[in-house]
Amino acid sequence: QTIPELNKEELLEKDREHMWHHMSVYNPNPMIATEAKGSWVTDIDGNRYLDAMSGLWCVNIGYGREELADAAAEQLKKMAYFPLSNSHVPAIELADKISEWLGGEYRVFFSNSGSEANEVAFKLARQYHHQNGEPGRYKFISRHRAYHGNTMGALAATGQAVRKQKYEPLAPGFLHVHPPYCYRCPFGKTEDSCGMACATLYDDVITWEGAGTVAAVIMEPAITGGGVIVPPAGYMQKVREICDKHGVLMIVDEVICGVGRSGKNFGHQNFGVQPDIITMAKGITSGYLPLSATAVRKELADKFNEPGFNQHFRHVNTFGGNPASCALAVKNMELLEKEGLVQRAEELGKELRQKLSILEDHKYVGDIRSFGFLAGLEMVEDRGTKEPAAVEKVTQVIVECKKRGLIIGRNGDTVPGFNNVLTLSPPFSTTSEELDFIVNTLKEAFDTLQ
Ligand code: PMP
Repeated sequence: QTIPELNKEELLEKDREHMWHHMSVYNPNPMIATEAKGSWVTDIDGNRYLDAMSGLWCVNIGYGREELADAAAEQLKKMAYFPLSNSHVPAIELADKISEWLGGEYRVFFSNSGSEANEVAFKLARQYHHQNGEPGRYKFISRHRAYHGNTMGALAATGQAVRKQKYEPLAPGFLHVHPPYCYRCPFGKTEDSCGMACATLYDDVITWEGAGTVAAVIMEPAITGGGVIVPPAGYMQKVREICDKHGVLMIVDEVICGVGRSGKNFGHQNFGVQPDIITMAKGITSGYLPLSATAVRKELADKFNEPGFNQHFRHVNTFGGNPASCALAVKNMELLEKEGLVQRAEELGKELRQKLSILEDHKYVGDIRSFGFLAGLEMVEDRGTKEPAAVEKVTQVIVECKKRGLIIGRNGDTVPGFNNVLTLSPPFSTTSEELDFIVNTLKEAFDTLQ
């Protein structure tokens, strides 16, 4: 018997014998997915699920778009591979398209994952300062709760303790500040009279550390994996001003928020700031093939053009920007444009947020937050004390949704008890009726809680 001929139990046995999953401790019986179309995934038993997480926040355009498969296949037949120490047409086309979507003068470096795109950003930022005559700038400031990836630098930037324990020491030089978490303000203030201490803190930290030691800040437009934390208006501009004052670069991680998810091309465009470096992955190919990119403001990139020894950016990778991934990404972005799907994500986001209001008064819902077409519901035991909901309750909602054919996500902090935010990030192909299904199913799942 070949593997595809095995039945589900036999496949699971093989899986347990030979596969190593991420977070496998949570999932001893993984769902074996076999097909997917639009917003729906089918498992090996023929059960259908609406995937309200777009996989891992990536299948933005929706599953099963043949145009994307064709674009990759055609490129594979024409020229499967060539390294980017030289060049090829799909990469040129994609770099051009990304710059257009960013609406500024950028140069784009390709790699393979969101984590690698962030590593590239860190290396570029440090090297830029070297070449700009300030080699002492090596530190990065990130935020508590942020997730920036799984490699030693990206994990160091990550602000969730449990993800890092057992892997330390990570890359040195990473500091963390409080996130703009208004629901549980770390400064104990209320939004109308807070003076945005979460933003001005950057000024203090950079000053305390010595501005001449700080290379860059890194932030997502809204923290996604750390509990869907959306900053107040003006926060990002404030941080941008502080960076400018101290000669510190601003790296914006658009791995989730980018390529339409926020309702704009890129998340930072909602806040009227221009970052120095922008990283992206997931949605750039709608998750169909691996690819990531780090876009660098041209003025900074130009520092790497100056003649002289050792001006090269030393980050050679074999697969980054491979032709099939680039051809697929170009097609993905073209379809998003042609079908007006970024605009649609914005509208769907508003509709989802409005529909979620049926859960607003539920006793276990503490806060509902959204950014573009992604949303988080923070579960609490008590709306007054905001004590996080018990793990069993959060799990129960997820399990009850799954029983009814709906896949949702969960995150927050890794501090025990705080993994209490349910997440939604559906494909842009989701219809209004499907949004009703998502919200009504969630409501039913909440109603099973005593
Ligand atoms: N940054 C953010 C904001 C992410 O959400 C992720 C992945 N969830 C990453 C970086 C890392 O991306 P990858 O898994 O492709 O390495």
